[in-house]
Amino acid sequence: MSYSCWLECIRGCGRRYSIFDVVYRCEDCGGLLDVVHDLDALRDRSSEEWKALFDERTRTTEWPFGSGVWGKKEWVCPDILADNIVSMYEGHTNCFWAERLGKQIGVSELWVKLCGNSHTGSFKDLGMTVLVSVVRQMISTGRPIRAVACASTGDTSASLAAYAAAAGIPAAILLPRGKVSTGQLVQPIANGALVLSLDTDFDGCMRIVQRVTQDETIYLANSMNSLRMEGQKTVAIELVQQFDWRVPDWIIIPVGNLGNVSALGKGFLMMKELGLIDRLPRIACAQAERANPLYRSYLTSFEKYQPVQAQQTLASAIQIGDPVSYERAVRVLRQLDGVVEQATEDELADAAARADRTGMYACPHTGVALAVLFKLIDRGDIRHDHRVVVISTASGLKFTDFKVGYHEGTLTGVTSHLANPPQELPASYEAVSQAIDRAIAAH
Ligand SMILES: *Cc1c(COP(=O)(O)O)cnc(C)c1O
Ligand SMILES: [Zn+2]
Repeated sequence: MSYSCWLECIRGCGRRYSIFDVVYRCEDCGGLLDVVHDLDALRDRSSEEWKALFDERTRTTEWPFGSGVWGKKEWVCPDILADNIVSMYEGHTNCFWAERLGKQIGVSELWVKLCGNSHTGSFKDLGMTVLVSVVRQMISTGRPIRAVACASTGDTSASLAAYAAAAGIPAAILLPRGKVSTGQLVQPIANGALVLSLDTDFDGCMRIVQRVTQDETIYLANSMNSLRMEGQKTVAIELVQQFDWRVPDWIIIPVGNLGNVSALGKGFLMMKELGLIDRLPRIACAQAERANPLYRSYLTSFEKYQPVQAQQTLASAIQIGDPVSYERAVRVLRQLDGVVEQATEDELADAAARADRTGMYACPHTGVALAVLFKLIDRGDIRHDHRVVVISTASGLKFTDFKVGYHEGTLTGVTSHLANPPQELPASYEAVSQAIDRAIAAH
């Protein structure tokens, strides 16, 4: 097999490294590193042959190709030996036709890609399987790696802890104290990671973990490490595959550190380059108003960029003021004619509740994306005949505090228009049957 990939400086200075080197930035110019594939080698199969291969592997039991990520191994990380792959058969998440919500807002083809229906409940699994597999291969060839480490707003650490535990590699997790949900906090605890709860925010945790991982025996698992993006870009491929290789018109995605949107764009650009698709979708990045550095930069057509101090938001996984993949994301947004929009706490909470009323169970980040969707429709950017996909980044089940708070009416800055608290009744037939009649009349 002649396929290959390597790390290359994104600033175009030409510096390259092996994906098995412990390096996160270009040593010449400080630029981030991207995984670059030998596309000419990948042209040995026609676009139709690639599609057929990916389709054929979908959900197969042949290790490791049944994984949504590893079914695209040649495009993701061809140099990994199957024995070193650490996979939970992530990917192949369902794309939900949100017919009823779509009708309410006037879009006939609204789809929600439920990336949270995954091993640890978020899309982070798509990237983590690649990163931890590379680490396992490094260790198997004698590299002195003692542990993996990350700073996290919750989901990265849950994913890293699970994959590291599956591989038997120690994991150290740095979390901002009080800023992740209970569900997210308990995941790495259960998986046996070293969980360090620090009195700072995500950006503060990030600064410390970067220093900790200057020691090359502790491997950095944050998305500045571009290996994760190789796995995450498969969501783009999987999406068009789910639409029989047709490209949606719009994709709405909640963004924080900007790794996922960069990966999404990368997947589409790679498919276009290799002829699997002939056009690109438009991308809308959805930010929480309380952590909106990309939105502010967008207002200047990305001429100016200023990190912000992220404020507390219900969308805690995107409470990031200084996104590491800013440069990558801007490049993608320019190529995919992207827009950026923001949502307040009130808007995101109500959007999630509205979606829930039509059968979903949206996490707050998905709420941000849905609120942005509503705005883009009102503004006429998204038309009723567009095929629209909302990327749901995590399972609502990880955010019980958010759901309970909404329905109890206790969330700050939020008016719970759709609160539906349980009714406490005496254990009597009359009380119950009257309550049911009242509810049916009000429906
Ligand atoms: C990580 C995460 C995001 C943001 O992804 P970035 O790559 O940081 O932009 C959004 N939603 C959820 C639930 C996440 O865990
Ligand atoms: Zn460089």
